[in-house]
Amino acid sequence: MEKKNIDWANLGFSYMETDKRYVCNYKDGAWEEGGLTDDPMITMSECAGVLQYAQTVFEGLKAYTTEDGHIVCFRPDLNADRLYDSALRLEMPPFPKDKFIEAVKMVVKANDAYVPPFGSGATLYIRPYMFGSNPVIGVKPADEYQFRIFTTPVGPYFKGGAKPITIRVSDFDRAAPRGTGNIKAGLNYAMSLHAIVEAHKAGFDENVYLDPATRTKIEETGGANVLFVDADGNLVVPKSDSILPSITRRSLVYVAQHYLGLNVEEREVYLDEVENFKECGLCGTAAVISPVGKINDHGREICFASGMEKMGPTIQKLYDTLTGIQMGRIEAPEGWIVTVE
Ligand SMILES: *Cc1c(COP(=O)(O)O)cnc(C)c1O
Repeated sequence: MEKKNIDWANLGFSYMETDKRYVCNYKDGAWEEGGLTDDPMITMSECAGVLQYAQTVFEGLKAYTTEDGHIVCFRPDLNADRLYDSALRLEMPPFPKDKFIEAVKMVVKANDAYVPPFGSGATLYIRPYMFGSNPVIGVKPADEYQFRIFTTPVGPYFKGGAKPITIRVSDFDRAAPRGTGNIKAGLNYAMSLHAIVEAHKAGFDENVYLDPATRTKIEETGGANVLFVDADGNLVVPKSDSILPSITRRSLVYVAQHYLGLNVEEREVYLDEVENFKECGLCGTAAVISPVGKINDHGREICFASGMEKMGPTIQKLYDTLTGIQMGRIEAPEGWIVTVE
């Protein structure tokens, strides 16, 4: 396969149309066969369920080239599981998990000329999503759905090294107790847009949300889970039913325990105790880990010992080990790396 003529090193995180996308429709109570198409446009009713009542869920994962020249994905089975759970919560017919993985492989293979070469730091971002497509005006679930996957090459998340960021404690809430915080749905992002625009205006990189019921515990940021390292070197991971179950976070917890021999505490984490921690990071598919240097709580600055210049040592080790596993430099646990070609 001949790679496209793309300036891989200078790609950002934005949409670039690629050659093929996967489409599968749900109609009359069943998913059809599904397949690839060249058409990037969607035509649907002006009254489609997704447009009126936001009935849509999504996933995000990456394909990349390993040192030995294979194109691989990282734990797509967990994306299949999570999309399944997200769909059930919004009364959508779940997309079959084995079909999901086949579709991911099919669409990546069809766009292999867009998968960035090894060493570029860039990846092919994969966006599976589904939405209610038939007219819905009385409030109820749609009867027809479309599942799609498009891909787009994206640049290295950190250009010139990972600089720690400053986040602030938001006055807005992300997800209600017993709400939809634990599913990957556009609705959780729509409500975060105002909060992030305001945070950026105030000079902060991200918002960290507290639990809405008591506003004393750390939940997560708009699109990433939070990790801390305490003074004893333990990895401390906030636990709550309204946090999105990040695949990166779950993988880092495994790496901490099984590769680095760290003690991991998954528990409720109070804002009050954060000043005792030594390191902080945000985790998600896009960056793996973004180091946090400072949390601003209404003017009170909580500065981590790791500072504003580089990742803390434990977070760095976690980052190096997980990216080493992803890139094939370090042996992966069974089933983590799925070869596309
Ligand atoms: C997608 C997402 C994450 C990160 O999940 P990964 O599976 O690690 O990419 C974290 N928080 C929210 C709210 C998300 O939507």
